[in-house]
Amino acid sequence: MIEQAYQYIDANRARFIEELKEFLRIPSVATDAKAVDACSRKLEGALAKAGFDAKLMPSAGNPMVFGVRKGQGPVVLVYGHYDVMPVDNQVWQSPPFEPTERDGRIYARGVGDNKAQHYAHIKAVEALQACGLPAVPLKIILEGEEETGSTSLPGFVKEHRDLLACDVCYAADGPRHESNRPTIYLGCRGVIGFELSVRTSSRDVHSGNRGNVVPNPGWRLMQALQSMRDDSGHVLIEGFYDDVRKIVPDDVRMLEALTFDGKKMSEQLAVAELNGMPAREYHERVMYRPTLNISGLVSGFTGEGIVNIVPATATAKMDIRLVVDQDPDRIVACVRRHLEKHGFTDVELTVHDVMKPSRTPSSSNFIGPIADAARQASGQEPVILPALGGSIPQYAFVEGLGVPCIWSAYANWDEQNHAPNENMVIELFIQSIKMSANVFHSLSQG
Ligand SMILES: [Zn+2]
Repeated sequence: MIEQAYQYIDANRARFIEELKEFLRIPSVATDAKAVDACSRKLEGALAKAGFDAKLMPSAGNPMVFGVRKGQGPVVLVYGHYDVMPVDNQVWQSPPFEPTERDGRIYARGVGDNKAQHYAHIKAVEALQACGLPAVPLKIILEGEEETGSTSLPGFVKEHRDLLACDVCYAADGPRHESNRPTIYLGCRGVIGFELSVRTSSRDVHSGNRGNVVPNPGWRLMQALQSMRDDSGHVLIEGFYDDVRKIVPDDVRMLEALTFDGKKMSEQLAVAELNGMPAREYHERVMYRPTLNISGLVSGFTGEGIVNIVPATATAKMDIRLVVDQDPDRIVACVRRHLEKHGFTDVELTVHDVMKPSRTPSSSNFIGPIADAARQASGQEPVILPALGGSIPQYAFVEGLGVPCIWSAYANWDEQNHAPNENMVIELFIQSIKMSANVFHSLSQG
């Protein structure tokens, strides 16, 4: 009975938290080779302890931690990532790599995104094993480059198709729905991270001595940006919306079951227009519509005070969130064509990272049992989202292995991932272990 596993999890709560903290002390930013090495080895050990045949596998980038474990029923592939976001100059209340408990939460970089979430799967398997409860045959893959765009993952999945072959992919990442009910989602938006830059002279010049004769790159770049989007937010790039998949009755059914507290979010973010936004509109915008976003603008002097110059360059950091079935290459081509057509041949486009959008059909047979597991482990009705607004490398599994992919968000909705004071509610970490145990056990029961 699954209750036995729940009891084991409750009885070992303190140890699980301590183990998680050890893991959080490793500053495994993707570019930190030493920490990546330490973290991947530690995970390999944790998998072996939970009965996996575990090994580190080389990839084009950081090593993949891979484990396989026998069982009964459909083969489940579990995915997670052990790399964390850098902390830069962010101000933290407690040091980011010294996990600290406050108000029932653990504060540490990478706790929600994604260490506690995949550690929950490993501890779930340990609990089932300790209680002698059957589980599905499991394969687990943990990558070390998610925060830098999972660049090696799609190639790795294709190359190791047989090794990773499975019936379904189940993974945990991201924050729960803002109601903090258990959250299951079936896909994600994709993303193209890119820069647009203009150079108008060889160097910065005095704005009095050369103003009006040397062109200003800031104005030039703004004109290019203005040409791409109207005041209502509609993107004017030709072809941008061509492949956006139509909303079908199944989507409408899911969308209409979702709630949204616009008043609360409006107060938290100090964004008045969110107050009163209908739930359907909010979710449709976040899950079913693409964006064209300016994430940073840089030109000239940006320190304190004023320096009177005409700068030589201006750069806009941008991202486009893609929805199914938009193809990143095709959208980049549309942006290039737009710049050309509107005479902005001096605006240079550089693509950084790309992730394709992906969505598992709402008719998948695995959704029901996973939702039941969430209900039983939490005592709450799960929220099922057709997609996540953010981007995760689901397409690597859906395209590479041809299987459905279903996600749970194990972290609290305000986990502050990528930001200072990233945290995870301890109770939710424990509940997540129970949910994974329930998923792996119940699917083995046919
Ligand atoms: Zn992240």
